[in-house]
Formats: sequence, C-alpha cells, structure tokens
Amino acid sequence: MKPMRTLLVTVTVASLFGSAPHLNVRHSPDGRWLLYQTNPGGAGSIGADGMPLWARRVSGGRPILVERSVLGWPDFVQRCGNGFVVSAGGDRYVSARNHVDVVRPPTWSPVNVSHDARYSWFSAACSPDGKWIAATRTVNLEEGRFDSADRSIWLLAVNGSARRQLARTPGASDEAPHWSSDGRYVTYYRHATHVNARVFVYKVDVHNGRRFGPLATLQDGLGYYGHQTFRELPLLGKTIAVDPGHNGANWAHPAQINRPVDAGGFRKACDTTGTSTNDGYSEATYTFDVATRLARILRREGARVVLTRTSNEGIGPCIDERAAIGNRAHADAAISIHADGGPPQGGGFDVIYKPNVPESRRLALAVREAFATVTDEPYSNYLGRDGLQARTDLGGLNLSVVPKVLIETANMRNAGDARRLESAAYRERVALALARGLETFLR
Ligand code: ZN
Repeated sequence: MKPMRTLLVTVTVASLFGSAPHLNVRHSPDGRWLLYQTNPGGAGSIGADGMPLWARRVSGGRPILVERSVLGWPDFVQRCGNGFVVSAGGDRYVSARNHVDVVRPPTWSPVNVSHDARYSWFSAACSPDGKWIAATRTVNLEEGRFDSADRSIWLLAVNGSARRQLARTPGASDEAPHWSSDGRYVTYYRHATHVNARVFVYKVDVHNGRRFGPLATLQDGLGYYGHQTFRELPLLGKTIAVDPGHNGANWAHPAQINRPVDAGGFRKACDTTGTSTNDGYSEATYTFDVATRLARILRREGARVVLTRTSNEGIGPCIDERAAIGNRAHADAAISIHADGGPPQGGGFDVIYKPNVPESRRLALAVREAFATVTDEPYSNYLGRDGLQARTDLGGLNLSVVPKVLIETANMRNAGDARRLESAAYRERVALALARGLETFLR
C-alpha cells in the first residue's frame, strides 16, 4: 500500500523571514498578504497541536497575530471572500472549544461566526460565492479517539446572520464538508461512531436539503478529524472465486452427492461429505467459516468475491459447478478451501495446483508462502512435497480455466491441527493468510 495523497503541505520559507520556519503558507486572495503558521513549541505533531496563525504583507512589515491556536490541516484555514475562514482554538482536542472565525485584511481581526460555544466547530469550508460556510459541529468533548463523536454539518452565514443544520445522521458522524464548484452541493463523510468504521461519501443539495449517497466508500476508519489517509485498495478491480469445500448437508444426501459428473475428461462423484475432527467439527463447517472470513477481507481490499456456496445448510454444488462459478465470473484467481482427513500422526498444509498451468503453480507458490508465514503451520509431512502438490484427479481444478489452487489447510484428524482450527482466532489467521497469498499473486 502506498499513500496516494499528502494531506498537509508544509512550505518552509525561513530564508525570507528569518530563522523560524513558516508552515502552511498561503497568499491572501488579493495576493498582498501571506498567511502562515509557526510552530514555536516545536511540536512534532503539527496535525494535532494548535499553532499560531500569522498574517504579513508580502511587501514586508511586522507580522500580525491572527489566531493563537489553529491546527495544521489545510481545511482549518480556507479562503473565503477576500479573506479566510479559520477553524480556531483547537489545541490537541479539536472536538473541544473550537470555533469558526472569518478573518480579513488589513486588520485580520477574527469575527466569530459559529457563536455557540456549547459545541466545537471545525473543518470550515467556504462556498464558492463566499456567502456560506459549511462546518462540522460536535459536542465539546475531549475524546479519547478521533473518530468516535457524534458530528453534524452546519451552514453558517459568513456575515454571521444565519445558521442551519445541513446534515446529521443519528448514531453516525457526518463531517469534513467540501463544496462543489457550482456551490450547489456539499459532499461529506459519514461513518458509524466506532473506531475503524467504514467511511462513506454523501452529498447534500444545499438549497433543498436533499441527500444523495453513498456515492463512494473509503477505506475503514477515519484519521484525524475527518482527514482520511488514502491508500490504494490492492484488490480493486479484481474478481476472486472462493470455494468452501463440501457442504453441511452433503452427508444426508448420498444419492445426489455420489452422482457422477464430469471431472475433466473422466467422471467422478459430484462431491463428498468431507471429513471432520475427532470431536465432530466438520470440514464443511470449517471451510465455510474460513471462506466467509476470507471473503470479508478480500472485499475490504476492494475485490469482487464470488462464493461457490453462501450457506452451510445445503448440498453441493458439484465439483464441475464449483469450477464453472469461477469461470463464469472470469475470476482473476480462484481458491478451494479444504482440510484433510489424514493419518493421526500426519500434520501440516499442502497447496494443490494444476500441472502444466504456470499461473496455477504461481498462485500455489504465493499461497504456500503466505500460509506458512502467517499461520506458522508447517508443510504437510504426508502430502506432496514442501507444501506443494500437482494433481490431475481433481475435477474442481481440471475444469477451471482461471488460475486456481486447492489448499488442504490442515489435517483434521491430527490432534494439534484440530485444536488450532477449532479456534475462531486461528481461522481468522487462516483467512488472512489466504488473502495475503491471493494479493501477492494478483499484484
Ligand atoms: Zn475436502
């Protein structure tokens, strides 16, 4: 993952104005003034600690102290009309006692337009016509986490004469307003008020209050005060077929399950019941749980995921259909999840690929590497070699025209393997390992 955008532009013009670095330098709209911040305390975190805001004529002269404490984020000082709108007062806790001021040359005296000190106001954005400010409002609260408070978006008249709520979602936070260039809409982020909640983008029509969305979804969690740290979703645009081996009701329907189907040039049973641990935890239940976890992870990373079954109460599908599901989806990769019923002394995992299909082998190598690293499960000591095996007798692999592997993640008949895979925390690790392998292959 790589950062896609630098949120804070820091310009140092120390050479022009002496030794103190000048941060976040902006020209006034008329070009005659510079607005900048300094960091007298030398805080290492200029995004979280308030810093003074200064104005100074480009032609020279003494600097004017405009505000004592403004956070260093770009949207805490924004152009507005012939001046700026400033989210001021926040010192470490933007959610406590922050207010919105309009400042203008030549005096730069702050005019408070948020008025209501019972709330904290920030992320103030000025409409293109310079008449309205959209700002985030939150209760005065020194919150432990940055993304946990109930927030709403308000419109404040720049001349201080009016104020109205623009967006509020009960039980969620609406924040970080931005205007469309025609001044008609304000886009904003909405997320549930818990850490790492998924973030959605909405917009609201400023004139009639109509809301639209979600227009987009961002990665999980919001950083400082609505400041998203963007990253590329590594699996965006990729389709992955996930096949949880067997099915929960296969054992009760032997006729259907034993029915021969095409397995790639020969016929083989539609499916089998799968194995189980000695205390009765079934392979079908296990593979379905891992597949569900895997799908969640892959979708979070931007992938489209197709599952060969979406419950553990059914029968099948047959192996030919499991392959067909991945083929029809034009999957970029497919994985079939199993656990073996091997000899009790046997243990470890094994990744099975199609011989003479380089992409299948490359996927197998990526999955093997990630699986060993993330789960610490050793290579199988009774299947394949070094955790790998090429097989031609598996219909689900033979019939696949997309890169596919089958993994025997453990031996359910081995006491140590069984104990691990009966733990939900371990199954999550298995899912993470498979996701990591797929991601490596698809990168
Ligand atoms: Zn199996």
